[in-house]
Amino acid sequence: MTHRVAIVGAGPSGFYAADGLLRTNPDLHIDVIDRLPTPHGLIRAGVAPDHQGTKAVARQFDRLLARPDLRFAGNIEIGRDLSWDELGAAYDAVIVATGMVVDKKLGVPGEDLPHVWGSWRFVGWLNGHPDFRQGPDLSKVKSVAVIGNGNVALDVARVLAKSADEMAKSDIVPEAGAAVKNEIVHDHGAREMGRKILQGHRREQHPCERVRD
Ligand SMILES: Cc1cc2nc3c(=O)[nH]c(=O)nc-3n(C[C@H](O)[C@H](O)[C@H](O)COP(=O)(O)OP(=O)(O)OC[C@H]3O[C@@H](n4cnc5c(N)ncnc54)[C@H](O)[C@@H]3O)c2cc1C
Repeated sequence: MTHRVAIVGAGPSGFYAADGLLRTNPDLHIDVIDRLPTPHGLIRAGVAPDHQGTKAVARQFDRLLARPDLRFAGNIEIGRDLSWDELGAAYDAVIVATGMVVDKKLGVPGEDLPHVWGSWRFVGWLNGHPDFRQGPDLSKVKSVAVIGNGNVALDVARVLAKSADEMAKSDIVPEAGAAVKNEIVHDHGAREMGRKILQGHRREQHPCERVRD
C-alpha cells in the first residue's frame, strides 16, 4: 500500500528528508510543499551568489524532483493557504522542514534605522528572494561596516568588494549587482574598503570557519 507524506519546506532539510524516506520506503508518495514558487530554500536565497559550488547541491535535489514518486508544490503557505490540520488529515505523515530565518537583533540603539540591514535581508535581496524585492538605498553610501566575522559577514564583504567582472559568473540578480557596483564599488579604494569593513569580536578560538573565507 502506498503511503502519502507531505514535507513542508523545500530547502535542504526537506529534500534530505525525502531522500532518506525514499531510500528506505520505496512505496511512498511524497509532496514537497513550499510557500515560494521555487524549490531549494536558502540554497537559492541565502548562500552568497558567487558561491556557485555550494549552490551546486541543488542539482542533487533536482534529481529527486525528477522522480515520479515525488512532487513539488510551490506557492502554498501552510498556515495561510492550508491549515496544518487539513494537511494532517490529507496525508499519512507530515514533516515540518520550514527552516529558521530571523535576523538576530543586537539590542543596540539605532539598529532599526533604515540603513541598517540584517544579512539575511541583504543576501535575500542579492539572490532575488521574493520577500526582499526592494533593496537598500545605496545612492549616498560611500562606506559600509559589516558587523560580525562569520562566513556570512565575509560573504557580504566579499560581494561588496568584488568587481563587476569578478561577479560575472555569479547568479546575483542584475538589479542588485548593478546597484552594489554603481553606488559603492566604483568608489575609489573600494577593494581596499573590502579589507577594512569587517568588525568582529571573535576570540582566537573562533576564527573564520572556512579556508576560502
Ligand atoms: C544569509 C545566509 C547565508 C548562508 N550562507 C550559507 C553558505 O554559504 N553555506 C551553507 O552551507 N549554508 C549557508 N546558509 C545556511 C543554509 O542556507 C541553511 O542552513 C539551510 O538552507 C537550512 O535548510 P532548511 O531546509 O532547514 O531551511 P531553508 O533553506 O530555510 O528552507 C525552508 C523552506 O521552508 C519554506 N517555508 C517556511 N515556512 C513555510 C510554510 N509555512 N509553508 C510552506 N513553506 C514554508 C521556506 O520558503 C523555505 O523554502 C546561509 C544562511 C543565510 C540566512
